[in-house]
Amino acid sequence: MPQGEMRKPLLGGAAEPDVPACDLKSPAVGILGTGDFSRSLAHRLLACGLRVIVGSRSPDRNADRFPAGVEVSTQRDAAAQAHVLFVALFPDHYSSLAALKGELAGKVLVDVSNGTTLNRSRPSNAEELAALFPESSVVKGFNVLSAWALLNGPRDGSRQVLICSDDFQAKNRVALLARSMGFVPVDMGCLSSARDIENAPLYLFPSWGSPFLCAVCLFFSFYIYNFFRGVLLPYVIKGHNVFYKLPVEMVNETLPLVSLVMLALVYLPGLLAAGLQLLRGTKYQTFPMWLDRWLCMRKQLGLLSFFCAAMHALYSLCLPMRSSARYKLLNAAFKQVKLGQESSWMEQDVWRMELYLSFGIVALGVLSLLAVTSLPSVGNSLNWREFSFVQSGLGYAALSISTLHTLTFGWNRAFDPGQYEFYLPPTFVLAVLLPCIVLLGRLALALPCLSLRLARIRRGWETRLHQVHFRLPDEDMSTV
Ligand code: NAP
Repeated sequence: MPQGEMRKPLLGGAAEPDVPACDLKSPAVGILGTGDFSRSLAHRLLACGLRVIVGSRSPDRNADRFPAGVEVSTQRDAAAQAHVLFVALFPDHYSSLAALKGELAGKVLVDVSNGTTLNRSRPSNAEELAALFPESSVVKGFNVLSAWALLNGPRDGSRQVLICSDDFQAKNRVALLARSMGFVPVDMGCLSSARDIENAPLYLFPSWGSPFLCAVCLFFSFYIYNFFRGVLLPYVIKGHNVFYKLPVEMVNETLPLVSLVMLALVYLPGLLAAGLQLLRGTKYQTFPMWLDRWLCMRKQLGLLSFFCAAMHALYSLCLPMRSSARYKLLNAAFKQVKLGQESSWMEQDVWRMELYLSFGIVALGVLSLLAVTSLPSVGNSLNWREFSFVQSGLGYAALSISTLHTLTFGWNRAFDPGQYEFYLPPTFVLAVLLPCIVLLGRLALALPCLSLRLARIRRGWETRLHQVHFRLPDEDMSTV
């Protein structure tokens, strides 16, 4: 680590560092440009006790925008004095530095620029900078940090700085600098990775697209089905107006169905993968692309399932607050009085509700545990066995309890023809199909004949290696 590092604490006072404790004899770190990024970077470098020289086209005009201790000079002066220079300009202005080629030869140039749109084919900004200054060593880095994050420093202790370069020594130097500023450098390899690094801040939740789409499609499918079956058809055929159910009751009926199916979708690809391995008798054949992608999105599917379950719990808690619920209760009480009925207690219904609620609460609790362990900071603290116990053991427990929650909701109504109004089954019947298939599939895989064979295949055993090959006279090789 460079001398003087940590002499000034990173935490506290980052926005306005006091008089810096920089070592005037240490080699200066240069910054070209005096914009937002440059100012934040200068603050942070200075706070780490480094000597900072900023190169500007108009140093007199911009000098007072930097804290005392930062030297603001001409671009040529900065290029001549510093060995590592951050190019804090927009790429459109790189060519304006062409006159400094001589001073910048042999120096390390750090390209901090970002793209404005995703770049899939063009050369990266860093590669363009390297082409402009072939005698300098270009390192891509620090672009994933905002000016604000730089100014505040790595308060959460986990800020990563992605870096890459074709010059190994230059890359190490910049990595050391990033570390001395309290950030975590991540080596991304050669300068050809610069495009990925420039694209990194532009992605919008890249791994969430398909799981999110899946959740939205499921939600609307169940919601529209419920709407037809429970609202539109009763209105058209019987004249019952229950449109008031749309905002709360129908949403609350749909959310648990989405949650349950999504949870089943977390475990189904694992079963399909196991089935394929059993069928092929080897683990050394790649899975189809769609299965690979499905396996990779299990965490997101699980978290969305948890989100829907949590929303269902919230909606359910709010159900009694609605005016419609109060009116219904009063009407039922009034009817009971009119009929002279003293008690409406139904033992079976009471038990159904108690079990239904209890399964629901436990399922949500287990799902919460799964969601917490999917956080990298928690997941990383578990060893492989603990992680697989939580994600597989507890995961299947959550799926089983959620299925029981839905089954107790349905109770014997699944076998009541009156529930199949307009020849349409209730949604809870549709929703438990996939989870039941997944749970049965898991039970089947637990059978000794399958589980032992699968365990052997996963340890590297292959069926075809154990087949006996022999050659019949006048025939090609045959396999038994
Ligand atoms: P900025 O505030 O607009 O500053 C750019 C600097 O470039 C100006 O201060 C100016 O410095 C110089 N400049 C302006 N016009 C010029 C021209 N025509 N020719 C030559 N130099 C010119 O921009 P910034 O926000 O600091 O961003 C600088 C770079 O950092 C960009 O590539 C950006 O993608 C990257 N970056 C920024 C952030 C952020 O949060 N701001 C985060 C990550 C990466 P002088 O007048 O002193 O020469």
